[in-house]
Amino acid sequence: MEYQIPLFQLNFGEEEIQAVTETIRSKWISTGPKCEELEQLFVEMMQVKHAVSVSNCTDALHLACLTCGLQPGDEVLCPSLTFAASVNCVRYVGATPVFCDIVGPGHINIDPEDIKRKITAKTKAIVVVHMAGFPAMMDEIMTIAREYHLKVIEDACHGPLSEYKGKKLGTIGDVATFSFFSNKNISTGEGGMLITNSDEVAEKARLLRSHGMTTMSYQRAKGHATAYDIVELGYNFRMDDIRASIGCVQMRKLQEDLEKRIRVRNKYVNELAEVKGVVVPFADNKEFVSNYIMPIVLVDSTKEKRDRVRDAIHQAGIQTSNHYPAIHKFSIYKDYGALLPQTEYVADNEITLPMYAALTDEQIEFIVRIVDRAIHG
Ligand SMILES: *Cc1c(COP(=O)(O)O)cnc(C)c1O
Repeated sequence: MEYQIPLFQLNFGEEEIQAVTETIRSKWISTGPKCEELEQLFVEMMQVKHAVSVSNCTDALHLACLTCGLQPGDEVLCPSLTFAASVNCVRYVGATPVFCDIVGPGHINIDPEDIKRKITAKTKAIVVVHMAGFPAMMDEIMTIAREYHLKVIEDACHGPLSEYKGKKLGTIGDVATFSFFSNKNISTGEGGMLITNSDEVAEKARLLRSHGMTTMSYQRAKGHATAYDIVELGYNFRMDDIRASIGCVQMRKLQEDLEKRIRVRNKYVNELAEVKGVVVPFADNKEFVSNYIMPIVLVDSTKEKRDRVRDAIHQAGIQTSNHYPAIHKFSIYKDYGALLPQTEYVADNEITLPMYAALTDEQIEFIVRIVDRAIHG
C-alpha cells in the first residue's frame, strides 16, 4: 500500500540529475575530483581537518575501528539502541562489543554512568551514536575517555551539522562517520564519510580505503604517478564520482533542509505537548540539530500496545518506523547476555513519525491527531 504520508521524502531535484549528467560527460566516474570536492565541503562545513569519502558508513565504521587500533581481546563500549552497523564494526576487527544502556525515554543516547560501570582493564574505546541527530552527553563521555585513555568513535550518521555546545557532532571524539544511504539527511543511494582531526587517522583511513595502495588510479591517469606499492592489507571502500557529485549538491542544500526540519520538529513538539502518555526524546534541546528522524516514546506501555498503536496509525495512511529494535536482543548478540532495561523499554515502546522538510503544518496536526486517537482509542 502507498502511504498518504511516508516516513521520509527524498530531497532530490533537477540539480542532482544535472550533477550526475555532468560527471558522466566528464568521463571520470570512479574516485576522483568529485569525491575530493565532497571531502572539501565536509572539511569546511564540519570545521574539521580531514574528510575521507567511502562507499558507506558501515565501511567508515570499520575504518574507524582499524584506525583506532582496535584488535582481538579489546572491549568496546557501545549502545544497543542503534543500527547494527555501529556494533558489527567492532567485531570486524575481532574486538568485543560491550553493550551500555541509554539514559531513558527523555534522552535515548548512551548513558555515561553505565559507561563507567562497564569499563574493565580491556576497554579500549567507546562508540557513541547521536540518536536522531541529538548529541550524546559528550562532556561526560570525553572526561571518562581521557581518564581511562579510551578512543571515542562518533557514529554521527544521524547528525550532519548538528551541534553540541557550538561544536559540530563528529568533531569531538577521535574519529566520526556519516552515511549517505537514501533515507539519511544527505542521500547518494549508498555512500559515507569518515572525518577526523588526526593526521595519522586520516592517512591510515585513505590507505586502507583503497587496498593499502600508495597511489590512486586518478593520480596515475593524470600523470601524477606511474606505479604503486601495497603497504597494508587494505580494502575497496571507495566512493565513486557519480555518487559524490550527488553528495555535493545535497551538502549545498543541507543547511536549508535542516532549517525546515527544525520548523517541522517545533510544530510536532507543540502539538504532542497536548497528547497524554507520550514522551518526546530531547524535548528541551535548544541547539541546532539535524532532526534525522522524529521519535516518540509511549509511557506506561508495552510492545503489544505500541504495535497496536502503530497499526492504527498505518490504517490512517501514515507510515511509521521503530528506531531501533535493541541489538542485544538479535540472534547473533543475545548470547552476550546484556541487561539494559532503559534500552529494552524504549526499543519496545518507541514510534518514529514521518520527518522531512516538506511536511506541512496541516499534515503534522493530522499525524498528531491520529497518534492521539491511536493511543487513547
Ligand atoms: C544508517 C546508519 C548506519 C549505516 O550506514 P550505511 O551507510 O548504510 O552503511 C550506521 N549507523 C547508524 C546510526 C545509521 O543510522
